[in-house]
Amino acid sequence: MNVSSYMLVYLVSSLWHNRLGHVNYTRLKEMLRLELILNFDGNIERCKTCILTKMTRSSFPNIQRITKLLELIHSDLGDFHSTPSFGGKKYYVTFINDFTRYCQVYLLHVKNEALGSLRMNLSRIVKPLLKG
Ligand SMILES: [Zn+2]
Repeated sequence: MNVSSYMLVYLVSSLWHNRLGHVNYTRLKEMLRLELILNFDGNIERCKTCILTKMTRSSFPNIQRITKLLELIHSDLGDFHSTPSFGGKKYYVTFINDFTRYCQVYLLHVKNEALGSLRMNLSRIVKPLLKG
């Protein structure tokens, strides 16, 4: 098989995989056997989207929750994997109060806006609680 025919076979199988909602390749081969889809050789690379969305992690073992308000705040900075929000924001940062589980989410254009979000969270949420 030359390079161009390999690329065509790869593109066709990836296209079926994507069109069918990222169905696994065993199902694609079964559909091929039943002559429901066009031929492909099954020698294809792993789909990046499937790898990102189907990853699992084990849960944390018994965690003791904090018993005082604002004693511990969890934060996470993430991205939308090349699909920005309607407003064109590509990142998000979260702040979760461990005691109340209250969560604030800020959408960001660039990652360095996270510091501004932290300041906003502190002035709008945390400071009033500390005063009261
Ligand atoms: Zn996939």
